[in-house]
Amino acid sequence: MPPKAKPPSDETVKVLIRCRPMNKNELQAKYPRCVEMDTSRGVITVNNPNPNANEVPRQFTFDKVYDWDSKQTDLYRESFMPLVSSVLEGFNGTIFAYGQTGTGKTFTMQGVKEDPELRGVIPQSFEHIFNHINESQNQQYLVRASYMEIYMEELRDLLHKDQNKRLEIKEKPDTGVYVKDLSSVLTKSIKEIEKVMNIGNQNRSVGATKMNEQSSRSHAIFVITIECSEPDAEGEAHIRAGKLNLVDLAGSERQAKTEAEGDRLKEATKINLSLSALGNVISALVDGKSTHIPYRDSKLTRLLQDSLGGNAKTVMVANIGPASYNYEETLNTLRYANRAK
Ligand code: ADP
Ligand code: MG
Repeated sequence: MPPKAKPPSDETVKVLIRCRPMNKNELQAKYPRCVEMDTSRGVITVNNPNPNANEVPRQFTFDKVYDWDSKQTDLYRESFMPLVSSVLEGFNGTIFAYGQTGTGKTFTMQGVKEDPELRGVIPQSFEHIFNHINESQNQQYLVRASYMEIYMEELRDLLHKDQNKRLEIKEKPDTGVYVKDLSSVLTKSIKEIEKVMNIGNQNRSVGATKMNEQSSRSHAIFVITIECSEPDAEGEAHIRAGKLNLVDLAGSERQAKTEAEGDRLKEATKINLSLSALGNVISALVDGKSTHIPYRDSKLTRLLQDSLGGNAKTVMVANIGPASYNYEETLNTLRYANRAK
């Protein structure tokens, strides 16, 4: 038998596009749609709404494109389930939601709690993980959850009593990169892990009102660590561990020049820095020829170092809006995503 091939790079990093439906205001104002999607071929076309620009429509091709009619459960089954399954087998994986504020990052990651049809990838992954564990025969599992936020290149533990505490990223030669003193909660059921997520979400929004809608300018990182112990033929326990990072990124929109002064300018600069560092890491991984992957350029990429590249799988969802007034931001997002694939 030939040796097991390393998966090609297009399997380890997947980029997909999701366009949300027009919202009430956009429908009322009768904004034209500037986006066309061919979901069967993965092709997306954007038209400049300004007829004087006299531009040819821009076209991009991705692993998968999801339009305004796409269902949360379809996204999970087609695009996220394989990654979560590989985490259950002991590999690391990361799912990112990228895009301008208001395009559906949190909808994609969290969704609407009350409606089972509208649950996002995080709650769907809870169900997937615990159903798998409950059906397993010989294995014993330990599932732990952590939840943190990066704002202005500072790391906060969303599960800690003291929300003013800042965390440090450290590195050990044997175990690699880790976050010192990060809360890690052992969870034994869907209910328990949901509770952990809700506590973190609450801490996130408390910070948000204090700090000027901070949530759209910070990265939220929910981490599920799954340890599995399984006896081999001699009855000796074998342990494997996988880590799933679920990341709701800061809004990618460019700050209006007039707005960006003082703290807002600093904020915008830090967000641009970490999103471009992420883009650089992913494009270096996809390129496959780079000998240097610039993980150390931001807290986010450093934190996720062991879950990007190597045997880890990555899925990035780039979220966009359909309305003509978002043309520039939509094009920016597609360019970013195009570079990452
Ligand atoms: P973001 O996190 O990127 O700022 P949100 O996830 O908060 O954006 O989405 C903005 C609004 O649009 C929310 O009211 C959300 O429920 C709605 N929305 C986003 N994506 C979809 C979608 N695919 N289908 C229906 N509603 C959506
Ligand atoms: Mg959001």
